Amino acid sequence: MVSAPDQSFPEIRDSVRKLCARFPGPYWQALDRDRVYPTAFVEALTESGFLSVLIPEAYGGSGLGLGAATAILEEVHRSGCNGGASHAQMYTMGTLLKHGSEAQKLAYLPRIASGELRLQAFGVTEPGAGTDTTRITTSARRDGDHYVVNGQKLWISRAEHSDLMILLVRTTPRDQVAKPSDGMSVLLVDLREAVGHGLTIRPVRTMLNHATTELFFEDLRVPVGNLIGLEGSGFRYILDGMNAERILIAAECIGDGKFFIDRASAYARDREVFGRPIGQNQGVQFPIARAHVQVAAAELMVQRAAALFDEGQACGSEANMGKMLASEASWAAADVCLQVHGGFGFAEAYDVERKFRETRLYQVAPISTNLILSHVATHVLGLPKSF
Ligand SMILES: Cc1cc2nc3c(=O)[nH]c(=O)nc-3n(C[C@H](O)[C@H](O)[C@H](O)COP(=O)(O)OP(=O)(O)OC[C@H]3O[C@@H](n4cnc5c(N)ncnc54)[C@H](O)[C@@H]3O)c2cc1C
Repeated sequence: MVSAPDQSFPEIRDSVRKLCARFPGPYWQALDRDRVYPTAFVEALTESGFLSVLIPEAYGGSGLGLGAATAILEEVHRSGCNGGASHAQMYTMGTLLKHGSEAQKLAYLPRIASGELRLQAFGVTEPGAGTDTTRITTSARRDGDHYVVNGQKLWISRAEHSDLMILLVRTTPRDQVAKPSDGMSVLLVDLREAVGHGLTIRPVRTMLNHATTELFFEDLRVPVGNLIGLEGSGFRYILDGMNAERILIAAECIGDGKFFIDRASAYARDREVFGRPIGQNQGVQFPIARAHVQVAAAELMVQRAAALFDEGQACGSEANMGKMLASEASWAAADVCLQVHGGFGFAEAYDVERKFRETRLYQVAPISTNLILSHVATHVLGLPKSF
């Protein structure tokens, strides 16, 4: 018998819930006020081994699949916590695992698995390129046994809290390659050595506490030994890692959606106005029920995408559709939850306004809804490409 999606990995879910109970609302509210990184929470997740579940046992991880990872992040978000500070530690290593040399994997993966090294920065987006990644201009020029990197990246999250970064650069200018997606390469940058020696990191304050930054490269020297895979094939490597990222972010949205529905239902049962619980009014209960239906439907698509991923099958469309459905369902649930709480929805102490801001991000990052619709239109439905 197929178990209900949120009953999969019950022991893992139970331990994640217990860990998250140590980091209740006031912990997140205090950090949110000053945009402080949740170091204690990230350390607890690291020590528990939850961030290394996708690393094979041979390299020191627990060798579990994406299904287990989605269960972890869903529970983190359902508990009112936020995985955004550390979720990339789970999946950014996928580029190294899939395309790195054995020597690179042995040098880094066991230390990433133990938490000694943080690889949770992923540098792709640039101010001038937007979603059109082939337009990136951050360049790496070969000089002896180093690459010399120049350019700028924007929205690179957790760079200040990471030891290593996966960086996408142009090694051949766009006008000198057969296809625009050719001529890009992936470098593993040691941020501990780079900062102050050609790399400057500046935090960008946003509407949520997400530790995102802009990066400035000025003649940063990166050893040629830190090239991942083949020079010029980097775009394909980055695309490969995106399905895992989208499925995991979608799982966070499912967790957010359930958080909002749990909170809205509890409040609607307890809050009495006009001499009865507000949840007795169909005008209050139907929107909550609708949000539940949307989250439950999105969850099935996310689970399907994770199952295909774990079976090694193509899952690009399901990953995209799951991410779109889940981010829209969590946003709808957020809106309902805030409305059900009336004025208290705006009060910091209830956590609803914070989660409301946090879950909105996922319709834009890591990929915006229009780009998903474009993928479905052209790759699934065979409609002509618009760009
Ligand atoms: C908090 C935060 C954290 C982030 N973290 C990272 C990170 O760690 N690493 C990283 O590399 N990036 C990161 N990003 C960047 C994120 O992936 C991008 O913001 C996102 O992919 C959208 O790209 P953009 O902002 O350049 O929007 P643009 O590409 O400028 O698009 C703007 C809007 O126009 C729409 N649009 C664009 N072209 C079309 C078209 N042809 N048809 C229809 N609609 C279109 C888009 O859907 C979007 O709504 C982060 C962003 C944020 C806000």
